[in-house]
This record gives sequence, C-alpha cells and structure tokens, in this order.
Amino acid sequence: MSELKTNLENVRRRISEAAERAGRDPGEICLIAVSKTKPLEMIQEMAALGQQEFGENYVSELVEKQEAFPDVSYHMIGHLQTNKVKKILGKTVLIHSVDSWHLAETISREAGKKGIIQPILLEINGGNEPSKYGFSFEEAEDALRKIAALPGIRIEGLMGVAPDVDDPEENRVIFRKLFQLSVDIGEKNIDNVRMKILSMGMTNDFETAIEEGATHVRIGTALFGKRIYRGDEL
Ligand SMILES: *Cc1c(COP(=O)(O)O)cnc(C)c1O
Repeated sequence: MSELKTNLENVRRRISEAAERAGRDPGEICLIAVSKTKPLEMIQEMAALGQQEFGENYVSELVEKQEAFPDVSYHMIGHLQTNKVKKILGKTVLIHSVDSWHLAETISREAGKKGIIQPILLEINGGNEPSKYGFSFEEAEDALRKIAALPGIRIEGLMGVAPDVDDPEENRVIFRKLFQLSVDIGEKNIDNVRMKILSMGMTNDFETAIEEGATHVRIGTALFGKRIYRGDEL
C-alpha cells in the first residue's frame, strides 16, 4: 500500500474516532489536505484515493496547481496580500485567511469586477500571538459586521489559528473559545453571515479541535510527511 494511502486512512480513522468521542457525526468533518510545498503528483495521488479538498498557503503555488489540475477544490489558508487577490479569485473555493478590513474590501471589489461571490472565513488569532495574523476575539464581531456589509463576499464562518504546541491539550481552551465565538455570532443572525464553518486544528491538535467543534481541519504533515522549505535542507 502506498504511503499516502496509509496516511490518509490513518488520518480519516483518527478524525472519525475524535468525532465519535464527542458524539458528533464523522461525516460532518471536512478534511482539508494541506499540500503546500508538495508536488502536484501528490495531490493527484490523493485525489485518486478520493480526497477532494486541498489547502495551499501561497498564491502562486495555488494558482499553478489549480490550473494544472482543476479537478479538485483548493482552499486558501495562508496570509493573502491584497495585490494578489485578483490572481486567486475564481481559483479557490474558500479563502480562510481574511485577516484585515483592507483585505476584505479588496476581495469585495475584485469579486465585483469578476461578477462572483467569494466565500470567505474570518481569521481569528486564537492565541493572541504577535507573530500570527488574524483578528482578536475582542475585535471579531465588529470586524465581521463591517465586512458582512460588503458586496461580492459571503462570510461562511471562522478560521482559528492556535499556537504550535507539543501537547494538544494546551490548545483545548482556545478551540473552545473559538467555538463559543462562532456560536455567539451565529445567534445574532447578522445579514450575509453564516457561521457554518469552523476551520481549526492541524496535524498536532486536530483531534482536540474536533472534540471542541471544528467542522474543517487543515492537515499537512500527517498526510504528506514533513515539509522541506528551500534553504531548510542542511
Ligand atoms: C501549514 C498549515 C497547516 C498544516 O499544518 P500541519 O501541521 O502540517 O498539519 C494548517 N493551517 C495553516 C494555516 C497552515 O499554514
């Protein structure tokens, strides 16, 4: 059996077990295979195994892969510069990483020119880390109300980023707060806002995230192996 097949089966099993522990239907958890820095052939192999959703961090890489292999869906999960918005629209099913008003406004304007509605998530900096992008818990609702009024976009939920930790238990409280935020906002019935998606959890902590209410998990390393960045070797 190929390594990717084994990895995919293991991750799917762990997702199901985490969902069941939390009394949730495993079918409601969407696995996003984070393929950043990995070759297109790996995406194609995963696709042949039935994996449909892929996550990318860099605009040029996402666009290249999408054009070469448009049969699957690509999620933009990395920081997006406003000057690259135009390139990516129409190539991504969901932009998870909307982390500023300026970015939201740019997506709105460019989507308008293209005549499309771009689904987005608002990125929340769950651990309040200065090195990470995203709105704070405190800013989230105001930002969301303002962004929701823009044409050309639809807010589908939140993406939470949590600190890199060895013990996933350290992030449980953050995941719980993110879930609560999404419930609280959902109950306000804000126009053009659906809190249908809660994207949180990565290789080191996805089971905890599922136990705390994630609908989408973004998993790279556990599926594709360690990433080697240019310059990282040696
Ligand atoms: C790289 C990345 C992931 C996947 O990380 P792994 O630890 O390899 O699973 C998930 N989310 C974001 C935003 C990322 O940049």
